[in-house]
Amino acid sequence: MQDLHDLYQEVILDHNKRPRNFGPLPDATQSAKGHNPLCGDKLTLSLKIHDGRIEKVAFEGSGCAISKASASLMTDAVKGQTIDEAAHLFDLFHQMVTTPIDQPIDEDAVGKLAVLGGVREYPARVKCASLAWHTLKAALTNTAEPAKTE
Ligand code: ZN
Repeated sequence: MQDLHDLYQEVILDHNKRPRNFGPLPDATQSAKGHNPLCGDKLTLSLKIHDGRIEKVAFEGSGCAISKASASLMTDAVKGQTIDEAAHLFDLFHQMVTTPIDQPIDEDAVGKLAVLGGVREYPARVKCASLAWHTLKAALTNTAEPAKTE
């Protein structure tokens, strides 16, 4: 059984306190904003994509510990990945947080992201944890750069 202590475990607290990849990204090629009205979490995600690979990623915003830690973990996880790999990780994360509580999650597949598996017990928190990932998906299809003709 998991309790709040598990939900707010050390890794999550650490990422909330010292979020990775937090700040603006002046040379971003794409960006998207995410908002979870249920909790009030807001974030802006910026990506620099070059040759189909996420070279740089950064986020800004404010929200609860879960949303911030999830954004921090997400940016760490997708940095350096190809767009396809990042999309696959989105699917794995989504699968994890929607796995019924009485079924085990595939911790090997999600790696460090497994620390957020505990949110399954709190449906409202699933939205907090998923916000960064949905924003990533939006950013991957949003070009901030003016369209090129060539
Ligand atoms: Zn939240």
